[in-house]
Amino acid sequence: MSASRIKNITCPKCGEAGEFIVYNSINTRENPELAKKLKDMTLFEYKCPKCGAVVFVDYGLLYHDVEKGVMIYYVRNDADAEKAEAIFRGKETDAADELKGRYIYRVVRSYRQLKEKIMLFDENMDDRVMELAKLLYLTKFQVEYPDLVPEIKESYVYGSEGEYQVAFRTKEGEISTNFNMQDYEDMDGRFEYLLKPIRRSGDIVVDQNWAMDLVHYAEPGSEEK
Ligand SMILES: [Zn+2]
Repeated sequence: MSASRIKNITCPKCGEAGEFIVYNSINTRENPELAKKLKDMTLFEYKCPKCGAVVFVDYGLLYHDVEKGVMIYYVRNDADAEKAEAIFRGKETDAADELKGRYIYRVVRSYRQLKEKIMLFDENMDDRVMELAKLLYLTKFQVEYPDLVPEIKESYVYGSEGEYQVAFRTKEGEISTNFNMQDYEDMDGRFEYLLKPIRRSGDIVVDQNWAMDLVHYAEPGSEEK
């Protein structure tokens, strides 16, 4: 059972009141339908029963893929992020967890990051390598759009089966470009010696800062070219 609660919503278009179900967690084995809706993000859509307007309702939740052994906590503020990280650190050192084979634990701060990580793990890719590869695109983006750089809020990859796009979100909107899988392979080769097996890495927050720190550690001064 997925724990859930009801949220009252007022349609921004016609003012009609309605109810929306907010899930605390989604388990792929127990709720395959909900997991599917999470993957295409329709889980976050509320449809007004009166006028049919669709409202995006963003909220945090725990995603648990039982088959793949993946848990991703999507949290929306610092306090929740600290709590989620503490829970996962505890699990990392749990002897029982060790016996069943390690899980991949992640904490993310936006629904786009959640979507990206679910997609990557579904396709048996390493989100750490992808985060490193995205830095290459960030560098290109900085050269092409120097004015927009301070406004970059987020970058994320979407697509499927080797055909991906990398998108940068700025205040002005989103700019996306084709992602070349060779960049993923290159980063995998370049940093392989530093990356522990993904299920034993203890990397719970894997984002742009994580990737920058790793590059800085491996190749000090490389970003000052
Ligand atoms: Zn309405």
